[in-house]
Amino acid sequence: MPTVFTHEFNTPVYKGKVSFSTGLFIDGQFVDGSDGTTIDVVNPTNGTVVTSVSEGTPRDVDLAVDAAEKAFETTWGLNCPGSKRGLLLNKLAALVEEHTEELAALEALDNGKAFNMARKGDLALAVDCIRYYAGWADKITGRVLETGEDKFNYTRHEPIGVVGQIIPWNFPLLMFVWKIAPALATGNTIVIKPSEFTPLTAIRMCHLAQEAGFPAGVLNVVTGYGNTVGNAISSHMRIHKVAFTGSALIGRKVMEAAAKSNLKNITLELGGKSPNIVFNDADLDQAVNWAAFGIYFNHGQCCCAGSRIFVQEGIYDEFLKRFTEKSRSIKVGDPFDSDTFQGPQVSEIQYNRIMGYIESGKSQGAKVHIGGERYGSEGYYIQPTIFLDSSPDMRIVQEEIFGPVSVIIKFKDEEDVVRQANDTVYGLAAAVFTRDVSRAITTAHKLKAGTLWVNCYNQLNSNVPFGGFKQSGIGRELGEYALSNYTEVKAVHVNLGKKM
Ligand code: NAD
Repeated sequence: MPTVFTHEFNTPVYKGKVSFSTGLFIDGQFVDGSDGTTIDVVNPTNGTVVTSVSEGTPRDVDLAVDAAEKAFETTWGLNCPGSKRGLLLNKLAALVEEHTEELAALEALDNGKAFNMARKGDLALAVDCIRYYAGWADKITGRVLETGEDKFNYTRHEPIGVVGQIIPWNFPLLMFVWKIAPALATGNTIVIKPSEFTPLTAIRMCHLAQEAGFPAGVLNVVTGYGNTVGNAISSHMRIHKVAFTGSALIGRKVMEAAAKSNLKNITLELGGKSPNIVFNDADLDQAVNWAAFGIYFNHGQCCCAGSRIFVQEGIYDEFLKRFTEKSRSIKVGDPFDSDTFQGPQVSEIQYNRIMGYIESGKSQGAKVHIGGERYGSEGYYIQPTIFLDSSPDMRIVQEEIFGPVSVIIKFKDEEDVVRQANDTVYGLAAAVFTRDVSRAITTAHKLKAGTLWVNCYNQLNSNVPFGGFKQSGIGRELGEYALSNYTEVKAVHVNLGKKM
């Protein structure tokens, strides 16, 4: 029998009890992994084990694919009207909304993100995203195409079938929703693997999906490790699409496994090293506030984190002064304190990784302006950190740190900053701060990134696509664009009288 996780939250911001099975969710049942082993769930504020979840294996991925195939052929896919899929997604959205506080508390416990940020950010966006795709479910249509011949031609946008999805730990619930909502709306069935570091909300979502009334086998969650469960998904011969969010390193492995197995269709949402550009004429207070939000939001564990802050010469000193003050005012602390903005990093591995980058910055000759140390005496907290005097070849300038660490770089003019900003293998996001609308737009158009923010940062909407140029990914999530990730286009030619 899978572990039942029971926990009483008695915190300043949330009081409540949770109790749910933490098994794999296959064919509508919560079950043990086929080896009977489990994975510990660790609280990043102090390193203690909170509970355990079932550990899936490649055999469990097979079982989940069996269930997903059966559901696709019987109760879902082309056997379920879009209007019904939309109704079920709307029911799920209502349940998620109803359980907002509980889910935000689970995110805070499991991932370390501030409860209030999770409640207002992750949960609100998740509910909105499910509703957005619920609205699409009965509007997936092909086109009639005129050929000028005695033929009736049309396209159908059909679901792919069983799709595999693999997600990271930085937005455990939101990434789960970004993946499942468009896939379900378009009529696919799912085998999804959450990160081994943050499995709790994905499992809890299965309980809510069950309550909403999704047929058995439509949504299957196999918790487990990447090199076993993740690899089994990306190399599975009966999964015809894999959607992955995570690092570029693992994205390559997923693409390789997809290519070597059945050449499955892929979507990759990978990392970034996003430039945030502040021109002399920017509203300085606003630029400082957004830049801080750009790097410290979610403790810097954002794929689109504004980790390279380029500041024009004329305002460099003043920006640095104000950004330093702002960084010092970031409230680091327990995720369940009402005023916490930055909690701990997700795990000891991530903590060590970020501290390793800070050491590399120092040893390669950059200057730690503030921070650079552990915050407090337990848990995986890191001080907001600013590096100055970097050079373009340093690891802290080129590689994704995924922590509350920025480099501030002085620039001369537009040409200089566009060259430096584009000097990265990534291309996920970028931001420009200026009061000059034509400079904002011309610079935005020259930057090689999938998302461009002008006078803001980290803004996301369910109906606006998100994804990367270059090594930041392949394909787009969100918006109408994501529907094409989960549909095959079938062209039908009907002869109306043409003779041979
Ligand atoms: P990761 O690449 O280490 O892991 C991501 C997922 O892949 C996890 O579920 C992991 O278990 C699984 N995995 C590991 N090895 C695997 C393998 N061999 N085959 C298949 N799956 C495997 O990433 P992470 O540390 O969990 O997350 C951080 C990364 O995610 C960062 O690089 C960040 O930029 C990226 N990210 C990108 C976006 C985006 O939309 N572009 C959003 C969030 C996070």
